[in-house]
Amino acid sequence: MFKSTIRFYASLLCIVLAVFQGFAQQKTMCITIDDLPTISKNSTWTQRKEITSKLLVTLQKHGVQAVGFVNEDKLYHGNVPDTNEVSLLKQWLSAGMELGNHTFSHPDYHKISLQSFVSDIVKGEKVLRPLLHARKKELLWFRHPFLHIGQTNERADSLSNWLGEHGYMVAPVTIENYDYLFAAAYDNALSLSDETLKNKIGAEYLSHTAKALAYYEEVSNTSAGRAIPQVMLIHANTVNADYLDSLLTNFEAAGYKFIPLAEALQDSMYTTKLTKYGNYGIPWNERWIISSGQHKEILKKSPQPAEYIYKIAGVDYE
Ligand SMILES: [Zn+2]
Repeated sequence: MFKSTIRFYASLLCIVLAVFQGFAQQKTMCITIDDLPTISKNSTWTQRKEITSKLLVTLQKHGVQAVGFVNEDKLYHGNVPDTNEVSLLKQWLSAGMELGNHTFSHPDYHKISLQSFVSDIVKGEKVLRPLLHARKKELLWFRHPFLHIGQTNERADSLSNWLGEHGYMVAPVTIENYDYLFAAAYDNALSLSDETLKNKIGAEYLSHTAKALAYYEEVSNTSAGRAIPQVMLIHANTVNADYLDSLLTNFEAAGYKFIPLAEALQDSMYTTKLTKYGNYGIPWNERWIISSGQHKEILKKSPQPAEYIYKIAGVDYE
């Protein structure tokens, strides 16, 4: 009787440990989507509606609470925001997603003054703020266009201080996958009605994203010494409308669970002080490596998309 009780508790302990270990190994990721309502070459109203609904159906299917970053200049067809375009943003909120400010017109902070840049941020709040207030939510998130946070410590600090004083939290990024390049190639294949080419680009996009995930995992494992909650950046474009379902399925197969941005940023790595700046727009885990001055050789492993993707996209190979 006594022995069997011991055995019972021992096996119970094993189960508890296994479950705990399972939790400890759970990888997490937040999905963020830039340039809302949509960013696609030659997009028609029908295509913009389709991109929006496809992205939202996929996000909901995978239980993702994504943050969408808006450029309000896309809402205007004249002097006032177009109600149809604004309705696309309302769909994001109705689907349970969060929305953040990505500036009004997507300017490059590395090319303009702080004053001009922050005026563009304020201009980009006009529609967003009332939309969020109507749902008893505050405008909290800010994402830098081109991930340009400031090319010097002083410029980065002055923008960061302004954002803090105006109630914004910066949304960092730890994984990107050149989706804008694949999107340009994909849209060109669409214009040519070349189904075979379109599928080839889509397959290449999935394969490149798998390489990007492995690389950025290695970068964050190196800088943090452990797995951290990742923040993925993609854009509201056609290739993602068609391939996000496969991307998310692949992330799930790689052991990821999707979490909201606020939860991801609770990880202490996100308080890491950046000490080195430059004229680049790169994910934060690469910035942490550069700031620490260590393991810089890992950055050379950053995977480049295949050369033919640049060609179809009409972009010079880097
Ligand atoms: Zn952007």
